[in-house]
Amino acid sequence: MKCAQNGFKTLILEKRKLPREKVCTGMIMGQWANRIIQDEFGDIPSRVLIDPGHLSGHMLHVPGIPAQIIEYRTPIAWRKDLDSWMNEEAAKEGVEIQDKTRVVAVSHDDRGCDLTIENDEGRKEFWTRFLVGADGATSVVRRSLFPRLKVRYSSPIRECYKGSLDIGRDYCHWFFPKSLPRPRFDLHHKGDFFLIEGSGIRELREDIRLTLADYGFSANVQPLWSDGCAIPLLHKELITGAFSPARGNTLLVGDAAGLIFPITYEGIGTALKSGLLAAEAVTEAAGQGKQAGKIYLQKLEPLLSAIKKLHGLQEGLSLSAKQGASELAKGLKNAYEKTLKTV
Ligand SMILES: Cc1cc2nc3c(=O)[nH]c(=O)nc-3n(C[C@H](O)[C@H](O)[C@H](O)COP(=O)(O)OP(=O)(O)OC[C@H]3O[C@@H](n4cnc5c(N)ncnc54)[C@H](O)[C@@H]3O)c2cc1C
Repeated sequence: MKCAQNGFKTLILEKRKLPREKVCTGMIMGQWANRIIQDEFGDIPSRVLIDPGHLSGHMLHVPGIPAQIIEYRTPIAWRKDLDSWMNEEAAKEGVEIQDKTRVVAVSHDDRGCDLTIENDEGRKEFWTRFLVGADGATSVVRRSLFPRLKVRYSSPIRECYKGSLDIGRDYCHWFFPKSLPRPRFDLHHKGDFFLIEGSGIRELREDIRLTLADYGFSANVQPLWSDGCAIPLLHKELITGAFSPARGNTLLVGDAAGLIFPITYEGIGTALKSGLLAAEAVTEAAGQGKQAGKIYLQKLEPLLSAIKKLHGLQEGLSLSAKQGASELAKGLKNAYEKTLKTV
């Protein structure tokens, strides 16, 4: 949207049929997410939010310790609805959106890149001066730029159940059943459903049953549906500079760049923030006849240094856990609060 507003002919290519759902809690969590949406898109319409509309905050549950409460008003939505509203707003600003169109290959030169796309009409190639790879965790654009980069992934699962549990439905509940920062799982309500998510769900199956039994979760209940996805774990590579998410006029943003916050794994705000920085870099590069990649990487520095700080905090949580459950609970509260308040 920012590219179109700045006068560029702008095309969004999306492989799935829109509107598409994305495995995500759909919490618009931190300051970047909330400010950027407010500044660039305006008030989120109530039709986009899902009951309870706004969470009051987060509760962190470590066994044997009273829940740590972080009061932090957080809009919540199904991603399908949030993203489709943002697409509508982008279209109003002149962005062309082509869904059911997959980018299958990208080749780069100093001036821009050639894209091969595939849809119902077959394969087509075209050239673009600037490319923003916003294609998520397993990004084709990232693989085209850095074919040798080895990426580790975590693989969270989401399970959706009918009804509600006897636990504050206007909080996101994070559970640490092993009294360790990981594995963890989270529980939240959306409309007539409650959802359980996390990358440790399989190994925590019995802990989940035992923990949630206190809140009315029946041992025999089956989810209505479940799905899963990948999260790229690129923090170390980004911090050490082993991976810089741009080259020439191709810029990676959001999950494609591994720009997700440690600790909460908030990624909507970082995707929006990096997307905006990419649009600024493209605009400056076009004006000055320079390549956008270098400009973008400079603009990304504060985001990378925020990730570095939070990554340090995350490492510190393992030490807190060694000092006992109460230290872990305190450490978690501090780390979650700092992540939410990152600007
Ligand atoms: C279980 C879970 C819960 C989460 N909860 C939250 C939360 O509450 N709040 C939060 O801030 N973050 C959360 N996140 C993180 C957040 O979902 C992501 O960080 C964020 O969606 C990244 O946005 P993105 O635009 O970079 O990528 P995506 O949202 O993944 O979008 C990428 C898009 O590119 C499309 N695409 C992929 N490949 C191609 C291709 N070859 N051609 C064309 N199109 C393609 C995909 O279909 C997709 O629509 C959560 C993540 C998980 C896994």
